[in-house]
Amino acid sequence: MSARRHAAVLVIVAGALAAAAASAQRDVDAALLADIEAIKAIDNHAHVMRPVPDDRGFDALPLDALDPSPLPVGLRDDNPMFVRAWKALFGYRYDDASESHAQEAAAAKQRAMAERGAAYPAWVLDKLGIETMLANRIAMGPELTAPRFRWVPYADALIFPLDNGAAEAANRDYAAFYPAEEKLLQQYVAESRLSALPATLDEYCRAVVSATLERHKRGGAVAEKFEIAYLRWLDFGPAAGDAAAATYAKFVRGGRPPAAEYKTLQDYLFAYLAREAGRLGLAIHIHVADGGGGNYDQRGSDPLLLTWLFNEPSLRKTNFVIVHGGGAPGAKHAGSLLSKSNVYADFSSWSFTMSPRLQAAALRDWLSTYPEHVLFGTDATPVSDRINWEETGWVATTTARQALAIALSGMINDGEIDRARARDLARRALHDNARKLYGLGSDPGDQR
Ligand SMILES: [Zn+2]
Repeated sequence: MSARRHAAVLVIVAGALAAAAASAQRDVDAALLADIEAIKAIDNHAHVMRPVPDDRGFDALPLDALDPSPLPVGLRDDNPMFVRAWKALFGYRYDDASESHAQEAAAAKQRAMAERGAAYPAWVLDKLGIETMLANRIAMGPELTAPRFRWVPYADALIFPLDNGAAEAANRDYAAFYPAEEKLLQQYVAESRLSALPATLDEYCRAVVSATLERHKRGGAVAEKFEIAYLRWLDFGPAAGDAAAATYAKFVRGGRPPAAEYKTLQDYLFAYLAREAGRLGLAIHIHVADGGGGNYDQRGSDPLLLTWLFNEPSLRKTNFVIVHGGGAPGAKHAGSLLSKSNVYADFSSWSFTMSPRLQAAALRDWLSTYPEHVLFGTDATPVSDRINWEETGWVATTTARQALAIALSGMINDGEIDRARARDLARRALHDNARKLYGLGSDPGDQR
């Protein structure tokens, strides 16, 4: 290439960059973005850590049990957004994340924890502009209390009471995860004051499933979480009670149930549990998106697989939340399911795999059709020695608000809504929809 041609290319590149920056500015209503950044949010989904050594209660299925597999770019230690997070959270002074500088960030984080003690997690929420965080954890702790934190325990274990060997043989990630579920079920059985699984399905449903949900409710839970797409497909369907009871009774003391019979039992238990959750005023959260791990079965987590469940008449009193909103591949399908009166979706975790502009396109679909069913979420989560829930939470809360501003600015520019309506929709998505769904209205903090 000649020098002259090279110069011409440079001019074109520089022009394109300037045009992109200008178009980004044009795309966002600056006053609206400022309003959106000031809204104290309710975070529908996060894995907050207790500020104590060796906290393992943050996830029933920690991904470090799996074969090594690449992280998405947005979650890697070298994502420059994490440098911005350190600046915003811990007064970090550098523009890079070199080893020695990153050690300073880690030391600043330790100092912040030591200074604030049990108040540290709530202090982080203040920095993230989050009023209330739904903490998806096996157990809470004295640092994670209402009204700033609300509990979302795990319920998957309850629908897998039999030998899971067939599923373990089918998928290496299933094989890594089922033992954790079996351990959690033993915990739930013991907490239900039983020494072994009951002999009949009726008794299991009453004395273990319902008893566990009631215990969770008394412990402050607002929802039950399923990570079931890490364990089987989401293709729930009708299940006859007598067939389910026969399978349970035959295999509860041992032996490997045939896959089709076990699925019927699982489907029966899921519907029973969801009905009970509705009775107790607990929402059902379902991970619906791509998942971590090298053997995740993407075919099994399309939101449309949940259509039977959402249409089942006996479950219409249960509120369901499509956590992660189907992710990038499933966002449109998730959006179509928001037409059900009892179905909601959050856009947690999108900031780790989708740019603000990609998020905005998907959000605009949702906000244009069923805006009362859209929930903000971060999926704040520990990732590595350097990057923990504070940093991922900051990136998510920052990027998601940009995405909302782009989506709503586009709707204003196209004459679909005015600015007052845009502010109203942002407030609903970031706060009011979740407050209504979980009945958080009595919190004094909600008046802000
Ligand atoms: Zn999560």
